[in-house]
Amino acid sequence: MEQHLIIGAGIAGLLMSQNGPIKEMHDHCDAAGTTFGLMGFLHPSATTISPEERKKQVLQQIVRHFGADALSPLAYYDTLWAQQPLTSEPGVQPMTMKPPYGHPELRQSYWDGRLHFAAAETDHLFGGYMDGAVGAAERAMQTVVSDKC
Ligand SMILES: Cc1cc2nc3c(=O)[nH]c(=O)nc-3n(C[C@H](O)[C@H](O)[C@H](O)COP(=O)(O)OP(=O)(O)OC[C@H]3O[C@@H](n4cnc5c(N)ncnc54)[C@H](O)[C@@H]3O)c2cc1C
Repeated sequence: MEQHLIIGAGIAGLLMSQNGPIKEMHDHCDAAGTTFGLMGFLHPSATTISPEERKKQVLQQIVRHFGADALSPLAYYDTLWAQQPLTSEPGVQPMTMKPPYGHPELRQSYWDGRLHFAAAETDHLFGGYMDGAVGAAERAMQTVVSDKC
């Protein structure tokens, strides 16, 4: 985009919607404010329409929220992750619920206490979220510290 649609509109850079193909969209402009972009996730039903129709519906929704300048982006990229062979297997279905994060084996240390997993996915309370990332980091740090004492 040639300009910052979100700052120009005086609104926050987060879009959550139940009305249109875009379910969730984030401001992906750089910190310096020189490169402008939006990144979002579409409803799974958007995979059943043609790329041309999908682009049309996506831009219509962005225009509805951010104004007519969004109709002429400098670039538009659309990826069906389920069809990317290095990302997904054939026949994969969208997740309907949170997977069972925090498996006990991922919460153990290995190699005589020299290997710890501290990613958000290892947290049994908030796996997959920022709170899970912080909880996992605290758990790993406490394990390292107590191993050394
Ligand atoms: C678009 C999006 C929106 C989200 N929204 C929310 C939200 O609203 N609320 C929420 O709670 N969570 C949200 N999440 C999830 C949340 O961001 C993640 O769960 C969390 O950031 C994971 O933290 P982490 O520390 O486990 O991993 P990461 O944040 O992925 O950190 C891993 C780090 O390791 C680095 N790394 C990878 N490989 C190597 C290597 N070989 N050597 C050295 N470094 C390496 C990476 O560069 C990265 O910095 C969102 C995620 C995405 C993608």
